[in-house]
Amino acid sequence: MVTSAPKTGPAPFAAAKAKVLGCDRCGTCLPACPLFQVQDVERASARGKNALVRGLAEGLIPPDREAQEALEFCLLCRACTDACPGKVPTDEAMVQVRQALADTLGSTPLRSRWIGRVLRRRRLVGLGAATLAGLRVAELHRLLPPQLVPRETSRRAYLKKHAGPALLGASAPRPEPAVHPGAKVAYFQGCGMKMLFPDASRSTQRILAQLSPFQQPDHPCCGLPHLAHGQREAFLDLARENIQAFEDADLVVTDCASCSGSLKHLTSWFAEDPIWRGPAERFSAKVMDLTEYLVAAGYQPQRLPDATFTYHDPCHLARGQGIRQQPRQLLKQAGKLIELAEKERCCGGSGSFHLEHPEAAAAILQRKQANIEGTGAQVVVTACPGCLIQLTRAADQSEGAFQAMHISQVI
Ligand code: SF4
Ligand code: SF4
Repeated sequence: MVTSAPKTGPAPFAAAKAKVLGCDRCGTCLPACPLFQVQDVERASARGKNALVRGLAEGLIPPDREAQEALEFCLLCRACTDACPGKVPTDEAMVQVRQALADTLGSTPLRSRWIGRVLRRRRLVGLGAATLAGLRVAELHRLLPPQLVPRETSRRAYLKKHAGPALLGASAPRPEPAVHPGAKVAYFQGCGMKMLFPDASRSTQRILAQLSPFQQPDHPCCGLPHLAHGQREAFLDLARENIQAFEDADLVVTDCASCSGSLKHLTSWFAEDPIWRGPAERFSAKVMDLTEYLVAAGYQPQRLPDATFTYHDPCHLARGQGIRQQPRQLLKQAGKLIELAEKERCCGGSGSFHLEHPEAAAAILQRKQANIEGTGAQVVVTACPGCLIQLTRAADQSEGAFQAMHISQVI
């Protein structure tokens, strides 16, 4: 995830160039990059993108649509940074260079702009969620492409299939929360969970309620889609709104890895802002991913002896926040966990990437699907609605070999 604030101005590409200066073009990142694996061209890789950044900063490459298109072709998955001997933060450079290109060219691609506008308006997100809920009730959502309306598997259907009717409605044990006893917990319901995975979101709320009373303040998008597509001002506006909306909470828990990843890093974006720096620091310090919170609070999942899971690590959770052990601990308590080959390899979702680049996203997903099928697990579990969109698609394509579910639905 991005860890430092961008600088733009007379040399708009200077900040991005500073990030990639450590790249010595060794190529260690090439086999790690999921995009280089599906498009064997240099510009798909981190090394190629870093060279483009330098070219832009040194005036050797014009800041045009072609450059913008090449630099939008990145999942921001951070696999390159993990593999890189010098830990060059290519994903951070991509966010900064996209912003600089948007500042220079005056706009971001049309679809990203449109998505950004919708997600800025709480009423539109609420309307979208209500419309999709209506379509699901009428079974009309199947007429829409699964990339737009994923086929969510409900917890009720999962329990029916894997545990038998005796366990329906049974509640998990309620230990005393170990995290800040008496802390005021608030649920941050991201746009993806609200609109696309309402059953999973209800499961999260059911679990939170078992641990302690929680608030659900009205709040906007976390702003990550805006940040990823050169809409920094919109991101900052949303961040300020979120800081205010959660002022009264001691802990802000979210079940979206992308939301927790971006909200935990708000501080850096306000580092030079004397008014918002303090509130942003306080806000980021109280953000927790759901699994992080549940393990710290001593939550004991209900165990289903015949359930077999495999787990896909969301990039923003594993590499972005170092949260790998907590979801596994919960899943091992809930059933049998079978590790997935290439478990941290991006699924190809990455926000709107799967809409912008459907062929590349599908090719990446194909490998993920084969790996999931190779485990023989009944359910592939993840902790991010962005990944769940892709994994539900893989489940559809697998024709019943497995289901895809959010972790809150199986624990
Ligand atoms: S962030 Fe991911 S997609 Fe982008 S260059 Fe690095 S490895 Fe490739
Ligand atoms: S990003 Fe890192 S791994 Fe990739 S070419 Fe540059 S120095 Fe090597």
